Amino acid sequence: MSTAAPIDRQALRTRYLAERDKRIRPDGNDQYLRLAGTSLAHYLDDPYMPVVEREPVTDHVTVALIGGGFAGMITGARLKEAGIEDVRVIDKAGDFGGTWYWNRYPGAQCDTASFVYMPLLEETGHVPTEKYAHAPEILEHSRRIGKQFGLYQGALFHTEVTDLAWDAERSVWIVRTNRGDAFTAQYVAMGTGPLHVPKLPGLDGIDDFEGHSFHTSRWDYDYTGGDASGGPMTGLADKRVGIIGTGATAVQCIPHLARACRELFVFQRTPSSVDVRDNRPTDMAWFEREVQEPGWQQKWLENFTANQSMGFRIPKEDLVQDGWTDLARRIRFRIRSLPFYKMTPKNMLAAFEDSDHEKMEEIRARAEEVVHDPETAENLKAWYRQLCKRPCFHDEYLKAYNEPGTTLVDTDGKGVERITKNGVVANGNEYELDCIIYASGFEVGTDLASRNGFEVTGRGGLTLSEAWADGMKSLHGIHVHGFPNLFILGPWQGAALISNVPHNFTESGATIARVLRHAVDHGHDEIEVTQAAQDAWIKLLLKGRGNMLGALSDCTPGYYNNEGQPLGEGAELMVGHPRGPMAHFKYLEKWRRSGKFKGLEFR
Ligand code: NDP
Repeated sequence: MSTAAPIDRQALRTRYLAERDKRIRPDGNDQYLRLAGTSLAHYLDDPYMPVVEREPVTDHVTVALIGGGFAGMITGARLKEAGIEDVRVIDKAGDFGGTWYWNRYPGAQCDTASFVYMPLLEETGHVPTEKYAHAPEILEHSRRIGKQFGLYQGALFHTEVTDLAWDAERSVWIVRTNRGDAFTAQYVAMGTGPLHVPKLPGLDGIDDFEGHSFHTSRWDYDYTGGDASGGPMTGLADKRVGIIGTGATAVQCIPHLARACRELFVFQRTPSSVDVRDNRPTDMAWFEREVQEPGWQQKWLENFTANQSMGFRIPKEDLVQDGWTDLARRIRFRIRSLPFYKMTPKNMLAAFEDSDHEKMEEIRARAEEVVHDPETAENLKAWYRQLCKRPCFHDEYLKAYNEPGTTLVDTDGKGVERITKNGVVANGNEYELDCIIYASGFEVGTDLASRNGFEVTGRGGLTLSEAWADGMKSLHGIHVHGFPNLFILGPWQGAALISNVPHNFTESGATIARVLRHAVDHGHDEIEVTQAAQDAWIKLLLKGRGNMLGALSDCTPGYYNNEGQPLGEGAELMVGHPRGPMAHFKYLEKWRRSGKFKGLEFR
């Protein structure tokens, strides 16, 4: 705990609001450029694997899994374990891995501890080599899962679904793709992920740049030299490079660029909060002695999740011990320090705020301690509450600004002004560059169908966009009334566990496998949630504390709070179980183990 001077709560609130206000833009999400269909669509091309011509597929499968990332892989593995063999994965990438297929930028690593983030460790026997594994190891693990569970059989890579329609006559889904496929699937699970469509800032002149440029999720190692494993990027040794953006991606790749480039200019609109990472190799002797036992990963998963719950049944042990559990521990400590008679919601929120201020003061002090140039250190300080933006953790990021060739171009919230044929204009100055790297993130605020690239048409011609026009509606975040034999894979309306997204899939995958096994064993053709069960689930969800996004309205803009614009229709439904993630997982386990699958109709 900090021993620094007492924190002036009011002064911080005022500063945070002022920093937010200068960043709010009326165009919100429209400030970004959608690449599909524009002259810049080549930014989306796969630089890692060639697209191989193939014949269209027109057969039938039992299950189609849209998305070969963690959601699809975990669900596929659980289905195979349940004896459902005829499973086909479809993905626009050239292999398994989802985000880890695309994001191969130097320094990419998981942000949540590998022992809980990497799925199916016990099943595959893989022990992560580091507390926070790097991207090549996670990609390799994805391939391991694909091979071990037979998910490569029939998989369609470099393939994008363009249409998904329910055929009520035959009780099947018709799946159409951009490769001319038109096949049927009795069941479909959609694990399309939230952050998979790269976006660029919609800057004037973005077409005009005559140097080289790419987005971080399509890293061009042919140009930079080096490789995803950290090989030196010798191609940049004589280059002036600019990187636009300082979010979680930039924080991980900037240290590598700072070492490799002749000159690096980092164009910053809003600094990230960057706390200690403390990564280290796994001590295998410790793992074998103290961790490895049947059920170890499930134990770690539950421990990590339970340590972050705000209830009072917190495990004595904290197995992961990282920034996420530290954050939760501090908040709990503050709240528990209140005398019982003062434990009102207002005082609890104030205790939460105090704990946040204390943490952010520590993070700001860290910038001063690490960065030699006082002005740069000042400009790297984040003035918002820690959960306003994705919290970052890194041991080399701040040090990168001590490299003689690295310059932080802080724009005081205004961002880059425009792009020219020579480079980037910011703060009224033109920076001539050989290469621009866009670390500008992914589409979030766009509508689901256009982001996914396909619409889902259910029973009676009802589309998912229509069914969810005023917000998502489901049972458990998985089943949707009007869309038989369809399963949604995502955190919302389930556990809504954001600090470790794969844990959501571990539980929903197991649940879907049980439901399908039951349908197959009893000769049912259709599974659908009843309207009443779906309504009851939504009613339960709305009893909770509400969408965290509401609490972010005072935050600096970003994709967490719809770029500071009013939240869209149905935002209050993007929530999880009112009693928190662990309560949901326990409930779901009981629900599936009962074998009754209350709320579902089998036909
Ligand atoms: P983000 O959306 O978080 O960051 C985009 C960056 O671009 C921001 O710094 C943004 O500034 C900046 N930007 C946008 N427009 C301009 C402009 N005109 N001028 C200057 N800067 C601009 O994308 P990331 O790819 O960094 O991260 C996306 C998400 O992916 C993360 O939040 C995280 O969930 C995930 N991720 C996870 C990792 C992991 O688990 N290991 C690693 C990396 C990412 P501003 O903040 O002002 O909008």
